[in-house]
Amino acid sequence: MNFKPLTHDEIRSAPKAVLHEHLDGGLRPQTLIELAAEIDHPLPAHDPKALADWFFEAANSGSLERYLTTFDHTVAVLQTPDNCARVAAEAVEDLAADGVVYAELRYAPEQQLQRGMSLGEVVEATVAGLAEGERRAAAAGHPITTGTILCGMRHANRVKEIAELAVAYRDKGVVGFDIAGAEIGHPAEAHLDAFDHLRRECMRFTIHAGESAHLPSISGAVAQCGAERIGHGVRLMEDIDLRGDEPKLGRLASYIRDRRIALEVCPSSNLQTGAAESIETHPVGDLYDLGFRVTVNNDNRLMSRTHTSREFQLLSENFGWSWPELKRCTVNALEAAFLPYPERRRLIDEVVLPAYERLEDRADRAA
Ligand SMILES: [Zn+2]
Repeated sequence: MNFKPLTHDEIRSAPKAVLHEHLDGGLRPQTLIELAAEIDHPLPAHDPKALADWFFEAANSGSLERYLTTFDHTVAVLQTPDNCARVAAEAVEDLAADGVVYAELRYAPEQQLQRGMSLGEVVEATVAGLAEGERRAAAAGHPITTGTILCGMRHANRVKEIAELAVAYRDKGVVGFDIAGAEIGHPAEAHLDAFDHLRRECMRFTIHAGESAHLPSISGAVAQCGAERIGHGVRLMEDIDLRGDEPKLGRLASYIRDRRIALEVCPSSNLQTGAAESIETHPVGDLYDLGFRVTVNNDNRLMSRTHTSREFQLLSENFGWSWPELKRCTVNALEAAFLPYPERRRLIDEVVLPAYERLEDRADRAA
């Protein structure tokens, strides 16, 4: 029987969970145009379609460092409480409309202080926006649960302070911590004091690693800093030898697989930053087949001109993924989510598994 890839509409109808979404990378183009006009911030295009194209093309440079420069435009409008709240609410609505039932959205508060907000005001406005987004999504018939992750910028010197901020807001909407920014030359272990603090406080965290830098970056994040998830991590393939009859995993790859450390894989984003050469050769297929705890994410919907259903559609078309793989990745994401265990179980047992059972039944009947 010929494999028929899942369609976009089919995938959209299935519940999905995302762990790696940057709020400053997911603005609606129209919103960015409106907010930039209010502060006279010059944009490279003034029509939503042309602006979306500009972001995709500018981010499509093959370098993480150049990719990151496109964020100057989005961060510029995230400098007031109203704008933080609006962007957060719209991101939640857009994810929910795409069938996402759980999302962790991250951002770097230290980049949002240019117009006088305090770190705490940034967090409070964003958390309020997420809650508003959840309300609107539920009213539209697309219930979604969200949490927020605070990012410290790894090339700057406020990582410890942001880690403390995450701990201070842990019962007020913040579920975890991360470091973002230029990976090469800025290893996670340079911020060991921040990660030690988080561990002493029993605060959960993930770390961007193995996106532009190689194995030592992943090893530093996991073995030295104690990350329980890895942002991207696709360069872990350098520790896996697929040439023989049996795949051979190095110590680091085995450790990450066996500890069930989740990989927050972002396929389209990886093509733009040079972390992967093409979707056909993207390591996500091998990592999944080898039993890693793979999750599928957008990273930056605006820069990558993508959304969750599209990412899964690419994987369905290129790796033959169908409902079992989508279900596995969704359950993987919820098992690794920075959400209390009873809430994760509720989403898995009451929302995700029954929906996939229906979808699989329907597919069986149609076959
Ligand atoms: Zn990221």
